[in-house]
Amino acid sequence: MINESVRTETFNLTNCDREPIHIPGAIQPHGLLLVISPLEWQITQISRNTQEFLGIEPEQLLGQPLDRLLPTDKIEAIAACLEGDFEQINPLKLSIETQNGTKKFNGIVHSLDENNIILELEINKSENDLDFIQFSQISKRILLQIQRASNLNELCQTIVQQIRKLTGFERVMIYQFDQTGAGDIIAEDKLEELESYLGLHYPDSDIPRQAKYLYTLNFIRSIPQVNYQPIAILALDNKQQKPLDLSLSILRSVSPLHIEYLQNMGVCATLTISLMKEGKLWGLIACHHRSPYFVPYETRNICEFLGQVMSLELASKEANEDLDYKIFLKSVQSQLVNALGKAENLTNALIKDREKLLKLVNATGVVIYTEENLLRIGQTPPEEVLPDLIAWLENRFEQDLFVTHSLPKIYPDAIAFKEVACGLLALSITKVQKNYVLWFRPEVLQEVNWAGKPEKLKNLEEDGTETLSPRKSFKLWQEMVQQQSQPWKPWEIEGAIELRSAIVGILLRKINELAELNLELERSNTELDAFAYIASHDLKEPLRGIHNYSNFLLEDYAELLDAEGVDKLHTLIKLTKRMEDLINALLHFSRLGRQELTFQSFNLNQSLESIAELFTVSKRGENIEIRIPRSLPKIVGDRVLLEEVFTNLISNAFKYNNQSEKWVEIGFLDPTLSNSLEPSQPQLLTFYVRDNGIGIQEKHLDTIFRIFKRLHSLNKYGGGTGVGLTIVKKIIELHHGTIWIESSYGRGSTFYFTLPTEIV
Ligand code: ADP
Repeated sequence: MINESVRTETFNLTNCDREPIHIPGAIQPHGLLLVISPLEWQITQISRNTQEFLGIEPEQLLGQPLDRLLPTDKIEAIAACLEGDFEQINPLKLSIETQNGTKKFNGIVHSLDENNIILELEINKSENDLDFIQFSQISKRILLQIQRASNLNELCQTIVQQIRKLTGFERVMIYQFDQTGAGDIIAEDKLEELESYLGLHYPDSDIPRQAKYLYTLNFIRSIPQVNYQPIAILALDNKQQKPLDLSLSILRSVSPLHIEYLQNMGVCATLTISLMKEGKLWGLIACHHRSPYFVPYETRNICEFLGQVMSLELASKEANEDLDYKIFLKSVQSQLVNALGKAENLTNALIKDREKLLKLVNATGVVIYTEENLLRIGQTPPEEVLPDLIAWLENRFEQDLFVTHSLPKIYPDAIAFKEVACGLLALSITKVQKNYVLWFRPEVLQEVNWAGKPEKLKNLEEDGTETLSPRKSFKLWQEMVQQQSQPWKPWEIEGAIELRSAIVGILLRKINELAELNLELERSNTELDAFAYIASHDLKEPLRGIHNYSNFLLEDYAELLDAEGVDKLHTLIKLTKRMEDLINALLHFSRLGRQELTFQSFNLNQSLESIAELFTVSKRGENIEIRIPRSLPKIVGDRVLLEEVFTNLISNAFKYNNQSEKWVEIGFLDPTLSNSLEPSQPQLLTFYVRDNGIGIQEKHLDTIFRIFKRLHSLNKYGGGTGVGLTIVKKIIELHHGTIWIESSYGRGSTFYFTLPTEIV
């Protein structure tokens, strides 16, 4: 009995990944297929189309010895290959006697398993078969062209041109797969009148997984006539017989879905050649024709050979390309690092060459975010969304790095700016401070549209059918890659990481330099304090001498001098007194630097109460008022010194005041307000001492803290040494605070300063 294999399950776009395309149970009609048992050399299966080629019914050949068809020497040749490789005899040149005369065939043999050999017969129409010399001549000529290609792009272009020339197809393309299995047309050679597919993208589903797998087993696939009737295969009745595996068959029937796809593209004949890299399917060379087109076995053989040559070239060309790119990135990186090393300011150095900063990771936009600055270069999300994005990012860094090529999928707010930021590569530079560099990449689709293809999509909108075509595929692919950017390459990420280490290195060096400078400054400050102390201390003694001797002169020799002489001696005594005041002030100042501070928490309200009492006594008769609008917080610091600060400032407030009613107000700013005025340390609170005095001109605001600096002549406003404010500043700084003034000339001044407090 005869058993005919037929498949009943139907497959469509949703289940095509499951279609068992290697066991279709049928072949294409342009040849004959025979399964031979090598034990009895008997025909165990045969395609139904024997009548057409041999003028004999298949049933008459099924179960028959092979020598009914083949001469003994050819059978022997096949038998000789049983232990080894059938490739060496392919194609078997066969002349078979039929009722319509002798027919020439190319026989292509491969072994299925130890019990089955598959012999496929294709009509050999060519008058003169290509011999080895011709084969090698053609191959050599094409190889020469291939070798001239200096990069991957040129290589692909050369191959499509050469294959088209060799085979005569109307269109030859190279289709390259990406990591997701989707593909791009990266090279094309075609008849001028045909529409170009170059640059189109296709989803993974266009070539189902099992079809891709078959391309890795069988490097060439020919469909000379897409609109064909599949030919069933008859087998000797055997219930256990497995479906015939046609993975390596040249005549294997094609999936109806693939046929439909080709028909939708207007393609009538194809030849597909696998491109392999490191054992994986890298891409395909696809040849298309709009009418039936048969390519003889020998030509197909050259195509397959060229595909293999290209596969070998691919690895080195791609490696070279990667290497070129890596070298380029390294040079960009070293230029950036160099500039950083020399720069005073990190941000300035980074943005100095904006292009380089973008090229470093092949981004289209970058944001540099520091505590003081926010800088945007190129295509970035709008400024107002960045703080939220950064807040979201903050605890997502892994080893100071965050990388994604589909930000909107994990951070939905990014949908609003996906055109510029589907890809995000973010670096956290320092942990203590919030310093970040964020690189962005646009949505792939956006890029494609920018590349100038949107008009082609319009046709798609009108396409309502369920079938696949390149345009439809393009749309499917678009849906697939929505909200995604090009993925970041490992060496781009590496470039960013290395930039970070360089920045950190530079920052560390700067910190070290600063620490050294600080140490140096501290040392010279101590020396200066010591010098001021010794100098003022030692100066006091001769000064006392001058003072005393001037007094003696006045007491003992006054009658020998005239009035002018006596007057001059009085001035001399006054000057020594002034000098003593100055030296005492300097001595006091220098002691501050040498003194150990006694930090304690104390009640400022109480301190001010006793200070106020002193002023009420000393300024009796004057109309003065000390205002404290609200209770003051407890201060943590050296009570004696801080009381001196308040005493000095209150004293100046009354001293430099022409009003008949003089007042001074002491208070503090609410923490948030104080922070906005002065970026102070968190535990520092801002106090103020405000008066309705004479005020200070803007130009003097910076200088009044300088030692011995006075703005008025000695006899005005009760004189002074010009050391008071210098001491105030020093004490504040010893408490890690800062002091500054706001003043309105003629109206009054406010001294602000920060001090550590016990805030609740
Ligand atoms: P002194 O009061 O001994 O001159 P200070 O160091 O206390 O020295 O002050 C330096 C100068 O700053 C003063 O000479 C005065 O001109 C100016 N000054 C200080 N406090 C005030 C104030 N509250 N209003 C106006 N000017 C002031």
